[in-house]
Formats: sequence, structure tokens, C-alpha cells
Amino acid sequence: MSEKMLKFVNIDQQTPNKRKAKKRVDDFKEIYAEFIYNKAKEQSSRCSQCGVPFCQIHCPLHNNIPDWLKLTAEGRIREASDLAHSTNNMPEICGRICPQDRLCEGNCVIEKSGHGTVTIGSVEKYITDTAWEKGWIKPIKIIEEQDQSVGIIGAGPAGLACAEEIRKIGYKVTIYDRYDRPGGLLIYGIPNFKLEKFVVERRTNLLKESGIKFQLNKDVGKNLTLEELKKKHDAVLIATGVYKSREIELPGHNLKNIFPAMEFLTASNRKGLGDKVKDFDKGILNAENKNIIVIGGGDTAMDCVRTAVRQNAKSVKCLYRRDRENMPGSAREVHNAEEEGVEFIWLSTPKKFIGSEKISSVLIEKMKLDKADSSGRKKPIPIPNSDFEMKADLVIKALGFDPEDLPKLFDNSNLTVSKHGTIKINLKTMETNISGIFAAGDIVRGASLVVWAIRDGRDVAIEIQKYLKEKKFNKIKAA
Ligand SMILES: Cc1cc2nc3c(=O)[nH]c(=O)nc-3n(C[C@H](O)[C@H](O)[C@H](O)COP(=O)(O)OP(=O)(O)OC[C@H]3O[C@@H](n4cnc5c(N)ncnc54)[C@H](O)[C@@H]3O)c2cc1C
Ligand code: SF4
Repeated sequence: MSEKMLKFVNIDQQTPNKRKAKKRVDDFKEIYAEFIYNKAKEQSSRCSQCGVPFCQIHCPLHNNIPDWLKLTAEGRIREASDLAHSTNNMPEICGRICPQDRLCEGNCVIEKSGHGTVTIGSVEKYITDTAWEKGWIKPIKIIEEQDQSVGIIGAGPAGLACAEEIRKIGYKVTIYDRYDRPGGLLIYGIPNFKLEKFVVERRTNLLKESGIKFQLNKDVGKNLTLEELKKKHDAVLIATGVYKSREIELPGHNLKNIFPAMEFLTASNRKGLGDKVKDFDKGILNAENKNIIVIGGGDTAMDCVRTAVRQNAKSVKCLYRRDRENMPGSAREVHNAEEEGVEFIWLSTPKKFIGSEKISSVLIEKMKLDKADSSGRKKPIPIPNSDFEMKADLVIKALGFDPEDLPKLFDNSNLTVSKHGTIKINLKTMETNISGIFAAGDIVRGASLVVWAIRDGRDVAIEIQKYLKEKKFNKIKAA
């Protein structure tokens, strides 16, 4: 296998060194280090094949990491890719965007012994991208078509993983999504510089070629009812994710140019996909030459600040009410953002948005940390008379997401939800309180991770299959 053919990039090294936010966007080229076979082999060979695979235990999919590392070290890339696919529906996506420092790599024995982790995510990405490049990844070929069908609401990773697993057994699958493209947050949430969109489209196209039907621009609750889907299909999966942005009701919150994170990120992703986006093209949702303030300390906030840098913002500041140690986002993402010139204003919270029609500045209050609250993190409390003002042309609110009111949206008050609005399921069968309707992904867990959505999608596929078999058996028995 020639090195040239296996040339690939290493996402870990995408961070440009000490790049400043003011740098012209035309010059803003991602620095990709080549992740060629030799690198993959070198990393894979570092795996000590320790008796207790902590990496595997801490991967939500329990990927057989030591074995695919061994295969990669031996040059058996196709087998490594097949093994990676046996537990994961989109390994190249997880390899790119899993917070490995909190999952597999953070628990690597070599990392724990102070010698630096095996870069598991990069190897996973390398072997799967190679498999795509070589044409080893093929659509599903059905041996025996089943006469039953499953309707899936939501084309995010949970819905897609379930669809693939269900289709493999021969069931008919239709996915309904309110967006015009499948992928959920993979397509319109996670920025292009972390997850290139052709990678997502390659996967969803494969599912189409596998016979899975996509009904896009179908908003269940508006264009279709849950009841209709229940009648049409033998089982239904709700995998709608969580989309209601958390708000801050401060004086001045109605001023122009204050946006929720998803609006900003969707506009940027749509532009990357070649769409016309009116508010972006008019300069409203575009950070170019603007002073940007992002409020929040999670990974979505990091995606916003790093997107703003790439849009050639004049300055990018991230306001967070706790300190670095108590931040919910990944430490690696904060480090990347800092390297790119983002300024973190720790222990600070907005008190008032100032401006006549549009936002022009934010009044900020300094905070200090008290004892830990119920979340286990130290509680921020305001420092009296500590206010200061900071210039802002565009404010992005990245304060997290809650579920929409699904019983209301689906006009089905019987659907049981938790006090947080997430769907309640039977943890064993993943069925909601309505027979034949299942739920998975963020809409059950609350905002989580892609790898957990895939895990849920795979798990619920097993439960749906059991349900369908029993339904068919009962029908035959009754006939
Ligand atoms: C900005 C951002 C960045 C992130 N970055 C990462 C990351 O780097 N790594 C990581 O692991 N995780 C990341 N996450 C989290 C991850 O994207 C989610 O946990 C994951 O996508 C959840 O998958 P899901 O299938 O449950 O829902 P989603 O991906 O949200 O998909 C749900 C789908 O349902 C559709 N839908 C909703 N309601 C309806 C309806 N009524 N009718 C029809 N369709 C409907 C939506 O249009 C959407 O396509 C990020 C999240 C955000 C917001
Ligand atoms: S799926 Fe995520 S956690 Fe699991 S091995 Fe891959 S990168 Fe690590």
C-alpha cells in the first residue's frame, strides 16, 4: 500500500498555531498534518495491548479498539475497518468529533502512565476514510425483504444508526425530518472545520442507496401527525434531539444582533454547503469585521467562537460565569480557541445588553466562586460594584438546549415526558408509554454526544426488532 494513496489528515493538529482572530479570512487555511499510514502504524504500535482495555470500556460503543489497533499496526486496514464498523455506524465521524480526552483516549493506560495517549480517534478516522477511499464501504444488500415497516422521526445520528441496523434485517424504513438535509446536528450544528459536510453526506447517501427512504421538509406536528405515522408504520421511533435554546431574560435582550447559537451555526454551515442565506449575505449573521461576544462555556460556545474567528471577526470574546477549571466544555476545545486568538473572560456574566436599536455593548458583572452546587461545580456569585462594559456588534447566546414540548407539538398529551421535557422510556425496551412508539438519542438523554446517540440508535433497533417479531407472531396466531 503506497503512502501516497493512504495520505490523510489528522484532526488533532487542525489548530493553527497562535493564529490571531484579526487575520484575513482568505488566508485562513486549516493546518492539516498528514496522517499517513506510517503515522497510523506508529500510533497503533504504541498500544500495549494491556489486559484491561480501559479505552474500550470508556467508549460508549465499546469499540474493539485494541484489536483494530493491532490490525492497523499489521497493515490489515480493511479488517480493521470492518471491525470498527461492527460496533459503530459512523466510525469516521466519531474519530473526528468524539471528545476522546473524556472517553477512550482519556482512559488509555499509556496516557495514565504519563507517556501520552495512543491517538485512537485519529486512527479510527484514518482506517474508515481509507475504507471509503478504497471503495470497501458498500450499501446494504437485503437478503430477505420483510413486510413490516418502521417510521423514524429525526435524521440525526440516533435515527440514522437505528435506520441502518433495522434495514440490515430487511425491514422497510422511512425517516422523516423537518430539515431539507439529513444528518441532524451533524449537518447544521457541528461546524465544518470539525466535521466536513461531505463526510456526513457520504453516509446519508449510502443509506439512501441501501433502500432507506428519506422524507425531508416534513415537520411532524405540522405537516404530519404522530398518529398518521403510527397508522402507516408497524413501529415508530422518535429521535428528534433537543432544540429549544435556553434564554437569558436581561434588559435589552430584544435588541437586534443578539442570536441563539444554533441560528449562527446553521447559517455558517448552510453557507459552507453552498446555500443562499439572506441574513448571512446581508452581513447580519456574519461575524466579519465585528466584535463578537459569545455567552456560555460549553462545547457549543467553543464552536461559535471558533466559527467567528474563521469568519474574520475583529475580536472574539467568550464570557463565562465560572472559571476554566469549572467549565463544562472540553479543555482541548478551549485550548484550540485560545490558540486561535479567542479571549476568555472568566468569572463574568452579562447584566444588561446596551444599544439603541442594535446591540453596541454588554454590561458585565464579575463573579466569584462559592461552594459546589447540586451539579458538583462551584456556584458563581456576583461581586458587588464590579460592573464593566464591553463593546459588541454581535452577541451569540450559547447557554444550552432543552427539549421542545413534544406532547403539545405532537398533539398527544398521553406521551409521557420527564420534568425536563425529555421523553420517558422503559429503560429495558426503550418504548415510550405508547405501545409501538420508541424514543432514542438526545430527546431521551438531554443534550449529549454523537457517540451516545449512535449507541441509543443501535440499542433501540434491537428492541424494535423484538417488538416487530412479536407483533407478526401475534398476527399469525390470531389469524
Ligand atoms: C453546536 C453543537 C456542536 C456539537 N458538537 C459535538 C461534538 O463535537 N461531538 C459530539 O459528540 N457531540 C456534539 N454535539 C452533540 C451532538 O450533536 C448530539 O448529541 C447528537 O447530534 C444527538 O443526536 P440525535 O440524533 O439525538 O439528535 P439530532 O442530531 O439533534 O437530530 C434530530 C433530528 O430530528 C429532526 N427533528 C426534530 N424535531 C422534528 C420534528 N418534529 N419532525 C421532524 N423532524 C424533527 C431535526 O431536524 C434533526 O435532524 C454538538 C451539539 C451542538 C448543538
Ligand atoms: S467512538 Fe469515540 S470514544 Fe469510541 S473509540 Fe471512537 S473516538 Fe473513542
